[in-house]
Amino acid sequence: MAREPLLRGTLDPETRARDDALRPKRLSEVIGQKGVVERLRIAINACKKLGEPLSHILFDGPPGLGKTTFATVIPNELETTIQMTSGPALTKPADLMPYLTNAQEGSILFIDEIHRLPRVVEEFLYTAMEDFRVDLVLGEGLHARTVSLPLKRFTLIGATTRSGMLSGPLRDRFKMHEHLEFYSTEELAEIVKINARKLKTPIEEEAAWEIAQRSRGTPRLANTRLWWARNFAASEHEGVITLEIARAALQMAEIDVAGLDRQDRRYLEVLLDVFGGGPVGVEALSATLNLPQDTLADEIEPYLLRAQFIVRTPRGRVATPKAYEHLGRPIPGTASSMPQGQLFG
Ligand code: ADP
Repeated sequence: MAREPLLRGTLDPETRARDDALRPKRLSEVIGQKGVVERLRIAINACKKLGEPLSHILFDGPPGLGKTTFATVIPNELETTIQMTSGPALTKPADLMPYLTNAQEGSILFIDEIHRLPRVVEEFLYTAMEDFRVDLVLGEGLHARTVSLPLKRFTLIGATTRSGMLSGPLRDRFKMHEHLEFYSTEELAEIVKINARKLKTPIEEEAAWEIAQRSRGTPRLANTRLWWARNFAASEHEGVITLEIARAALQMAEIDVAGLDRQDRRYLEVLLDVFGGGPVGVEALSATLNLPQDTLADEIEPYLLRAQFIVRTPRGRVATPKAYEHLGRPIPGTASSMPQGQLFG
């Protein structure tokens, strides 16, 4: 099975379609992220009662945790429209113009991967966000003049996997800043069961739990793994996802008991075998793995850090004893190790 893409910009059409079909439509359908849901509920209620547009919101967090989901739930709650684009698609201010001029009072403009906006486009956004106008330069040279074009009071929702890469002025223009965290196994199991119902696939409680546990705290991965288990059950069995079937399907996809896929394990193997467990810089890891640094920073490392397979130190990444144990390698200075056979349960 091909590696599951995580970053929305790199998703294949099938994964995108599945994401869209399984996405919660209302705030009440969103699982987990309790604090975020509560703050949004209050902000939405207030702006409905006061008849004001919602303030600009920035969502940040690793891919697949629900940034787009929140962005699409908000217009449903506000009964307004949403326009969607992304940082890399907006190469010059003119690319942004149609979105700004089409924006209605209170409507939503969603910019995914907003940290990848070119500086000129970002600067163009400042007055649009703050004063709801854009300054256009018409003509050239001596005849050039600036006209100010008023805009409707829209709400910008930005999503980013790297809030640290946003410039201060852009970050400051977002009045709400919400960070999305990895999900607990309980929350993911709930999402798996709800989505199995949407896919009309019967699933045993233990199987939902098993898929949740092996989804790296990420709803998008829970969906991908549920989808694979469903196909596996339909093709090889009677269609019901039992615990045994979920395990067999995940093992076939080379997803281990910790939810790591082949690429995550390769990262750890390189860290242990090539760099002696670290500390090693991301540049060296990226060169040896032959993967872009962005892929490491956005898709692989956040969960390995969160699950404490690695730690980040001023001198670079370092493997923890958990990483050695997981790969069945003796922990330096001790004799303990986990037999490889246990990787897939
Ligand atoms: P991001 O924009 O952060 O990359 P998405 O919002 O596209 O992630 O989420 C991917 C998929 O995961 C969604 O299509 C949805 O099915 C599921 N999902 C994400 N967050 C939640 C949530 N809080 N509750 C239920 N399902 C979720």
